[in-house]
Amino acid sequence: MSKPVLVTGAGPVGLIMAAELARYGVPVRIIDKSPARTSQSRALAIWPRTLELLDAAGYADAFVADGLHAKAVSIHVGNRTLARIPFGTIASSFNYLLMIPQSETERLLEDHLRTFGITVERGTELRDFADKDAGVSCTLMHGEGKTEALEAGWLIGCDGAHSFVRNRLGLTFEGETLPTGFVLADVHVTGLAILPDEPAIFWHPDGAVMFFPISRSRYRIIADLGSAPLHTPSLKEMQTIVDRRGPGGIILSDPVWLSDFGVNERIVRDYRKGHVFLAGDAAHIHSPAGGQGMNVGMQDAFNLAWKLALVERQKARPSLLDSYNIERSRVARQILADSGRMTTAVLLKRHLAQRVRNFAVKWIFSISVIRRAMADRLSGIMIDYPDSPLNVGSARGLRGPGPGQRLITGGNPGRRDSPRFVIAARDSADARAMIARHSSLLMPEVYLPSDENGIWLVRPDGYVAATARSGNWPLIEMVLNGITLKKINIEKY
Ligand SMILES: Cc1cc2nc3c(=O)[nH]c(=O)nc-3n(C[C@H](O)[C@H](O)[C@H](O)COP(=O)(O)OP(=O)(O)OC[C@H]3O[C@@H](n4cnc5c(N)ncnc54)[C@H](O)[C@@H]3O)c2cc1C
Repeated sequence: MSKPVLVTGAGPVGLIMAAELARYGVPVRIIDKSPARTSQSRALAIWPRTLELLDAAGYADAFVADGLHAKAVSIHVGNRTLARIPFGTIASSFNYLLMIPQSETERLLEDHLRTFGITVERGTELRDFADKDAGVSCTLMHGEGKTEALEAGWLIGCDGAHSFVRNRLGLTFEGETLPTGFVLADVHVTGLAILPDEPAIFWHPDGAVMFFPISRSRYRIIADLGSAPLHTPSLKEMQTIVDRRGPGGIILSDPVWLSDFGVNERIVRDYRKGHVFLAGDAAHIHSPAGGQGMNVGMQDAFNLAWKLALVERQKARPSLLDSYNIERSRVARQILADSGRMTTAVLLKRHLAQRVRNFAVKWIFSISVIRRAMADRLSGIMIDYPDSPLNVGSARGLRGPGPGQRLITGGNPGRRDSPRFVIAARDSADARAMIARHSSLLMPEVYLPSDENGIWLVRPDGYVAATARSGNWPLIEMVLNGITLKKINIEKY
């Protein structure tokens, strides 16, 4: 029995990491120092790309059934609508924004994890670790004050923004803290005339107030504080902000959560040191504008888990793991930049700048191509890995995505014992022979290609690893051999 992977932190990112590793047959333990799951709604938004990944792993249905399906997001000034960006144009079977409280997301993920016989070890804290040649020696402190020495094969720090793992590794969390704070309230709302299932943002010379539906008639309200210091708001204060900045006639009641938060934009330079990885908020944090934080973290987990599983099960060369930092830190930097721009737009204070912003937004989003591009960008379906060392070939002259781009091949791989790549090509004896030669790495079926003249080799996380012209099976063979470190006979190609 090989040493377990220790996942530290049972937030959404740690839970997905543990579930994915378990799905791929890797022994895993997951600990959290907190004695209970969060009851706060925190991250509410799950975007289409994350839903696609949950679906490919076989457990999107519970989320889809539980959450609200927001069909658009809109921006207003008083009773005037500046922009409405519909999500129905997103080229995904999940062409909506799923609104579901983080407490519920974590409950569903824990239920899913239990189907592999794994429970979160709560009240268990990672107190120390040392990276050694063959793994990581960890010191755990259990709730009752008992310490445990654990030899883990790998340690994955999914331990949030104040990550102990990151600090212990001595990695700098580079970036800045924004000067403005925010207040939030989860409350019952009446009198909001816009569609009840849609997030709505209201701009006002004083600042912004934003409404995010949690369930029918219950909303998360967020407002910036301007130059006021951070403080927990009262319901009365939130009502005053909504009356002043909103469209009027809105009544708030029955608050279940009132809080404040500051905004940091920070990222580590390297998501890995030796046998230790970082994922989620432990590696990157940014403004909640755009609702991407949890999504990027969950996608980190989907990206790392299959690679680590292949390496752990000795089906791939260890250098496969180097692609994790290259691919994911680029995505986080993009999200940091996007959410930073959105936050700047929200926080504009000078009257003239606000008028120019409002005019520009109204004009820009009257163009359907731009509305569509914005929806695609928010959805996560445009995320790609152009600089990945795993990319081979080119889709030039072919109809379909190139290496590093997303490709949904259909079918639902669901539960399986090992990560599998997919071949999408015209069904042929060559295709079947390739699958037979690499049966431990490839799905047994040949999937439909987007162009009959091409071959696509698709990674277990739904991104293209290689593209070749029809008949160029030697290129695909070379890529698969490169992953598994089989000897490559160059002359053959
Ligand atoms: C008010 C608010 C609103 C937000 N809204 C959104 C949104 O709309 N959309 C979005 O995408 N994101 C949003 N976010 C961000 C989102 O909540 C985070 O991105 C997400 O929780 C990160 O998940 P994580 O698993 O990386 O970390 P966390 O959820 O922070 O989980 C880390 C876990 O690690 C545990 N831990 C820490 N140290 C140790 C240790 N030494 N040993 C054992 N366990 C440890 C902690 O107890 C914790 O449970 C919001 C956040 C806040 C606070």
